[in-house]
Amino acid sequence: MGGKRCTYYTRGRCTRTVSPEQSAAVRCHLLEARRAVGAATLDRLDRLKKLADPGDREVARRHVIQKNLNEITKLSCPRYVPREGRGPVCQHQHLVSCLLLLPRCTQRCEHFMARREYKAIDQGGT
Ligand code: SF4
Ligand code: SF4
Repeated sequence: MGGKRCTYYTRGRCTRTVSPEQSAAVRCHLLEARRAVGAATLDRLDRLKKLADPGDREVARRHVIQKNLNEITKLSCPRYVPREGRGPVCQHQHLVSCLLLLPRCTQRCEHFMARREYKAIDQGGT
């Protein structure tokens, strides 16, 4: 049975938080990159408020939105697999982490914490 009944067990991986450093290292790269582009876009949109002319502001706003879309579209991850076959969310994403970067749970360890209601959620691991 190993760690399958553990709260931290997800598709063969251990999602237990070990340290801030480890958490940072296992974050989904694609999600992080999308966030960075989104933050830069919000910053650009914010700066547009300084434009006095509403027409100029609208033209600039559209340009910024298009630039955001172009940059987001260019981002990729070689291991990305769309969840349920389509959409922007990767099936390996667990909250903000990438399951593929998390350690495997090979056996019940000292940190094992039983799930309240165990259901057969394992899909064979990844
Ligand atoms: S495989 Fe998926 S979850 Fe992992 S880093 Fe790539 S896009 Fe993110
Ligand atoms: S049993 Fe241990 S290694 Fe396995 S998921 Fe739980 S905490 Fe992680």
